[in-house]
Amino acid sequence: MPKPVIWTVDDDPDVLRAVERDLRRQYGDRYRVLSADSGASALEAVQQLKLRNEAVALFLVDQRMPHMSGVEFLEKAIALYPDAKRALLTAYADTDAAIRAINSVQIDHYLMKPWDPPEERLYGVVDDLLDDWQASYHPAFEGVRVIGHRWSPHSNEIRDFLGRNFVPHQWLNIETESSAKQLLDTTGAGISSLPMVVFPDGSFLANPPIAEVANKLGLKTKAEFPFYDLAVVGAGPAGLAAAVYGAADGLHTLLVEREAPGGQAGRSSRIENYLGFPVGLSGSDLARRAVAQARRFGVEILAPQAVKKVRVEGPARMLSLEDGTEVGCRALLIASGIAFRKLDVPGLEKLNGAGVYYYAPMTEAFSYRDGDIYIVGGANSAGQAAMYFSKFAHQITMLVRGQSLSDTMSQYLENQIKATSNITVKINSRVVAVGGADRCENITILDSKTCLQETVPASALLIYAGAVPHTDWLAGLVERDELGYVISGQHLVQRDPRRPKGWTPDRDPFYLETSVPGIFVAGDVRHLSAKGVTSGVGEGAMAVKLIHEYLASL
Ligand SMILES: Cc1cc2nc3c(=O)[nH]c(=O)nc-3n(C[C@H](O)[C@H](O)[C@H](O)COP(=O)(O)OP(=O)(O)OC[C@H]3O[C@@H](n4cnc5c(N)ncnc54)[C@H](O)[C@@H]3O)c2cc1C
Repeated sequence: MPKPVIWTVDDDPDVLRAVERDLRRQYGDRYRVLSADSGASALEAVQQLKLRNEAVALFLVDQRMPHMSGVEFLEKAIALYPDAKRALLTAYADTDAAIRAINSVQIDHYLMKPWDPPEERLYGVVDDLLDDWQASYHPAFEGVRVIGHRWSPHSNEIRDFLGRNFVPHQWLNIETESSAKQLLDTTGAGISSLPMVVFPDGSFLANPPIAEVANKLGLKTKAEFPFYDLAVVGAGPAGLAAAVYGAADGLHTLLVEREAPGGQAGRSSRIENYLGFPVGLSGSDLARRAVAQARRFGVEILAPQAVKKVRVEGPARMLSLEDGTEVGCRALLIASGIAFRKLDVPGLEKLNGAGVYYYAPMTEAFSYRDGDIYIVGGANSAGQAAMYFSKFAHQITMLVRGQSLSDTMSQYLENQIKATSNITVKINSRVVAVGGADRCENITILDSKTCLQETVPASALLIYAGAVPHTDWLAGLVERDELGYVISGQHLVQRDPRRPKGWTPDRDPFYLETSVPGIFVAGDVRHLSAKGVTSGVGEGAMAVKLIHEYLASL
């Protein structure tokens, strides 16, 4: 954390040197003393400080300067730093101006030049001002700041991205926070540039694509080596487990993740069925721990980076990445999980990200305190969301297509839901329309038993409507079932007793091996897998064991 700043401004170089020297000698251990020889150059530098979110404790400014007087400078500077203390350096002839400034810019003090000896005529005053400032000083936030509109889908996308990639950030709502407007003004950009991402070094990006933010943050998206023992696609629980156990076993391992480590599990507010965590843990906590473990074993993680295509070149499996680069491996693990199933309902797409969310980020919960939230879905993920959001919302209503929750939800979760007074479950129900000008305001629900529709006010609609596998990038490479899940091991043989087309080894595919030797699959994306965090982790670990057998046979 940089030290707070004392700014001194004077056009006379001798005076400037003297005041700077005296201030540094007395306060240099706790404050940074910065100086400028004109109001204009000082203002420019003060703006840069503001962009870097550094604190200014005191402006000590000469009143009589050409082009911009001390008072004129302070008028502008305090718009950026309203809490900074202000003192004018004056000659006897400027006393009147200094007294007037007490009213116009609320200066805290004026000091007569010369101030010798400083022990008597300078430090006492400055000590007082700094003590006063320290008493109400809260150290500024040091991470990335995002300025945007509450209902802007792109603002929410950026916040979600930062959160899921564990980047500390502060959200500044342009509609409700004056500091947001102030910071935006400092960048010189207008409202049309939102969302704006301001970085700790003071640089900023207006309305940036996610890839640009990732780039600026220095997230790793390029592989260091052309070839690896093992490449894993997808950093959900299955991919993370495989990467950790693969690297721990000595395999040179690359893990490629399209969005953020954690996969679907990263969106879970509380995983209660994971071995060893009797009170549960959040998905992001699990992901953070797994990423630290993977890095410790030397796994190289590229995120955000997607695999677009894979081709087989003799014993090598070659991955084409989204940025046009290519990387090779001896064995490949597909752990690309599943994607959210979209609902085709009038009005919904327009409000996606503006009160309507697929698998809502937990960061949204606080925004809906005291609101009426509707949740579509009856599986565990919907149940967890209901429990989590119920701590903030006034009322949660779960809309379930079936006759009861029991068909789709774990018993422990159903019990928790029943015991929570502000959660209601509506069975035989589905959403048929979403309304609102620029954010979700109401939804229309159809009761499939009575065929009656009702339109109700809704602060948010959270959708947990199941998923489809992430396997478009594998088209034409490995065998998939009718729904797109990747088939492996005995399931390949069960569907067709002949060995897969092009299969060369003199053995059947291993349990988690696909129709292409050396390409394995684990987790939710696998045909008939158990689905879930535990199974994903288990399959990831098991895949490594089978990959060793495969590599040994080459
Ligand atoms: C809100 C929520 C709560 C849940 N709660 C629980 C729970 O309490 N207990 C439980 O057991 N399960 C829970 N689940 C289910 C569990 O999270 C999943 O079963 C598990 O995450 C599956 O792991 P996976 O590694 O197979 O795939 P995923 O978690 O889906 O991860 C796959 C990853 O691959 C990436 N990817 C996809 N395509 C590419 C590509 N081409 N290139 C690079 N990367 C790619 C994706 O971005 C994703 O990060 C929950 C799910 C959700 C959504």
